[in-house]
Amino acid sequence: MDEARSVEVYPWLQERWRHVTRLHEAGRLPHALIVSGVQGIGKRAFAGALARYLLCQAPRDGEACGRCRSCVLHDSSGHPDLYELQPEEPGKPIRIDQVRELTVFLHSTAQQGGYRLVVLEPAEAMNVSAANALLKTLEEPGRETVLLLVSHRLGQVMPTIRSRCQRIDCHPPVPDLAAEWLAGRLQIDAAEARQLLGISLGSPIRALEYVQQDLVTLRRKFLAGLADILKQRRSALEVAQQLSKEDLELLLGWLYGWILDIVRVGATGDESYLRHTDVRNMLLAVARRAGPHSLYRLADLVHEERLSLMQRQNPNRQLLLERILLRWSELAIKH
Ligand SMILES: [Zn+2]
Repeated sequence: MDEARSVEVYPWLQERWRHVTRLHEAGRLPHALIVSGVQGIGKRAFAGALARYLLCQAPRDGEACGRCRSCVLHDSSGHPDLYELQPEEPGKPIRIDQVRELTVFLHSTAQQGGYRLVVLEPAEAMNVSAANALLKTLEEPGRETVLLLVSHRLGQVMPTIRSRCQRIDCHPPVPDLAAEWLAGRLQIDAAEARQLLGISLGSPIRALEYVQQDLVTLRRKFLAGLADILKQRRSALEVAQQLSKEDLELLLGWLYGWILDIVRVGATGDESYLRHTDVRNMLLAVARRAGPHSLYRLADLVHEERLSLMQRQNPNRQLLLERILLRWSELAIKH
C-alpha cells in the first residue's frame, strides 16, 4: 500500500484516535468531521483508518479487525461503501460535478448494510459552487453516513462548511518523537533523523518520502548546482541542463524556502531566523551579498514559475529553470 493510501494512525495522532473511537463507541460520533492540521503529519491516513474502522463489522479495542468481509474488501479491491473524493489532479480544484456524483452515491443504499463513508481531501480545494453543493449533504447526510473532510488549510475552507463539521485538530509530533519515529522507520540514528526532519520542515512523513524517493540526493545535487553558480564554477545554463528533467515544482519549492531564509536573515541580521540550518553557509553568504531588490525579484519569479508548473501550463522546462538560475547568479554580484 503506498503512502497516499496508508491507513496508519501515527503515534502522535493516537490521542485523537482514541477521542474519535470513544465518541463512536458511545454512539455520539457526528456525521461530519473535519480532520485539520498542517500537511504531512498523517491526516489523510488518519481519515482512511477511521473509514476502515467504521466500516469494520467486528471492531475490537478501538481498531478494525482486519479479517471481516468489510476489512478484506477494504484492503483488497476497495470497499463499495467508501467514497473517496479528491481533485482529479493534485493542485486542481474539486469541481461541482464531482460533488454531484458523490450525492448520487449517498442516495444509494449501502451495499454491505452498514455505514457509508466519504473521505474528501483537501476540503479547501472545493470551489465555491462545489462547497455549496456539499452543504446540503452536510445538513442532511442520510442515515449511517459519515463524511470525513481533510484540510491542510482550514482557513481556506468555507465557514459554512466548517461550522457543520466537528473539528479534529491534528498537531505535528514534537521534534523528539518525530526523530525517534523516523529513526525507527529508516533504521538510522537520531542525529541523521533530525537532519532529515529539518529538510522536511518537521514533517516525518515527508521525510520518509524524501528518502524513499531518493530526494535527499536530488536536493544535494540542486544545492551543489546553486553553489557552483555563485562561485562561477558552472554557468546557470549548465546547471539548468543537468536538472531540467527533475521534479521542478519540488526544486522551486525548496528554492523558495531558502530565499525566504535569506530574506529573513538579511532583514534582521539574526541567524536564528534560518529554518534550513543544513544550508546555513550558503544562505548566510548570499544574505551578506544580495540586495533586497534582487532577492524579492527572484522570489517573485520563483513563485510565478511554480504556479505555472502547478497549473500545468507546460512551460519549456529548460528555459524556465535557466531564467531562475540566471537571476540566482545575479545575486553573486555585490550590491
Ligand atoms: Zn473488520
